[in-house]
Amino acid sequence: MSFTLAIVGRPNVGKSTLFNRLVGRRLALVDDQPGVTRDLREGEARLGDLRFTVIDTAGLEDATDDSLPARMRRLTERAVEMADICLFVIDARTGITPTDEIFADILRRRARHVLLAANKSEGRAGEGGLIEAWSLGLGEPIALSAEHGEGMPDLYAALLPLADGFSAAEAAIEVEAPDLSLDVSEEADEAMPVPTEAKPLQVAVVGRPNAGKSTLINRILGEDRLLTGPEAGITRDAISVRLDWGGVPTRIFDTAGMRKKAKVQEKLEKLSVSDGLRAVKFAEVVVVLLDAAIPFEQQDLRIADLAEREGRAVVVAVNKWDLEEDKGTKLAELREAFERLLPQLRGAPLVTVSAKTGRGLDRLQAAVMKAHEVWNRRVPTARLNRWLAAMLEAHPPPAPGGRRIRLRYMTQAKTRPPHFVVMCSHPDKMPESYTRYLVNGLREDFDMPGTPVRLVMRGQA
Ligand code: GDP
Ligand code: GDP
Repeated sequence: MSFTLAIVGRPNVGKSTLFNRLVGRRLALVDDQPGVTRDLREGEARLGDLRFTVIDTAGLEDATDDSLPARMRRLTERAVEMADICLFVIDARTGITPTDEIFADILRRRARHVLLAANKSEGRAGEGGLIEAWSLGLGEPIALSAEHGEGMPDLYAALLPLADGFSAAEAAIEVEAPDLSLDVSEEADEAMPVPTEAKPLQVAVVGRPNAGKSTLINRILGEDRLLTGPEAGITRDAISVRLDWGGVPTRIFDTAGMRKKAKVQEKLEKLSVSDGLRAVKFAEVVVVLLDAAIPFEQQDLRIADLAEREGRAVVVAVNKWDLEEDKGTKLAELREAFERLLPQLRGAPLVTVSAKTGRGLDRLQAAVMKAHEVWNRRVPTARLNRWLAAMLEAHPPPAPGGRRIRLRYMTQAKTRPPHFVVMCSHPDKMPESYTRYLVNGLREDFDMPGTPVRLVMRGQA
């Protein structure tokens, strides 16, 4: 299945050169002078057996190093909107500039998937820039030389799992109530692929280095199948493993495997976070694996929060439980810390496991299945509206300026995670606290622990 890749970055980093290489026709202008005015261009790219659409944002006015002219920002944002994946290109010879940081920021906020490429990496002149690129927090930079065609296999390897993800996601498109704001056009109907096989449950295991991710996945697999040697590259196998887990076809994204690809040892901590981020994007259910001896570290909290913000179902697993002496006290402490430090994940399951002995893994599997089921859950509209009436009666909405906000009707627009829409008279005036009251009520009354619940207020039905 095809996808769209946008090449973004500041002028003169080599975007057009890369575009030309991917598209294979020398269509684009390439100029030594930054700022030759061009607009977004599209081409059909080939890379290995991948076929995709590529968008080039090259040719925007030059930006001084601390600003980003509005037009460039607009075009970049437009390209990012259009793209499934953004390839953010920096110049490895120059290193990271303030303008690069601005781009990184736009991408972090807007892009669905970001890959980072350090271009002009041929020879040794790019080594410093390549290492600096890690600091953008966008994962492992792919060393490229667009001019000399170096690094294309690495680009391919980075795109492949994403491309797989898109075909998996498309194969799994389920029949959902149409989004309220959209008409289902004939065109959309045609584009809908017929699912051919059941999609495996997509699970990411994330956590700090040494939390026990590899041990856990190996234990689940029942054999030492993960790549661990120095020869391990980013291959399909290093990124995900497929198995029947508790009889359920499952694909587990292995961030530990990705980490072992690390060349820059001292950046391990940072890397495992950005790998985690990448895995979170692929996953439906995210297992945040904690080390019982050092639970809820900053890094654990960040990734758990990210998983919530990305709308993934979350299961917290506390590993190395075999080492705990006073399990009762410890468990109470953990639950308290969980509630205090991750209020946004209220109700998410907390499971204790030992990857080493295998204890608790059946409970972990059950929690993952349950979280997935909740994430997919649909509440019938009639029930929702009965529920809404009761909620309104128990706690009437506020009346800013003396005029009560009227909540008229509610429906679940989407699943994965559950999205609810409430039609109301003055959505802009609705205080956050009332929305929270409804969200917490939904979670409790419809038994939706461990999944983000989204609720939006809309002005007119
Ligand atoms: P854009 O503005 O980002 O589209 O950049 P261009 O593709 O126009 O390239 C800007 C300049 O960098 C040109 O002179 C290219 O020849 C040069 N360039 C592009 N890729 C490479 C590369 O991999 N290595 C080196 N050394 N120069 C490159
Ligand atoms: P990763 O970096 O998260 O992949 O962690 P590893 O799987 O490499 O495990 C790190 C260390 O913790 C290794 O020495 C493991 O043997 C150990 N370990 C992992 N799980 C457990 C467990 O459940 N109990 C105990 N006692 N040690 C474990």
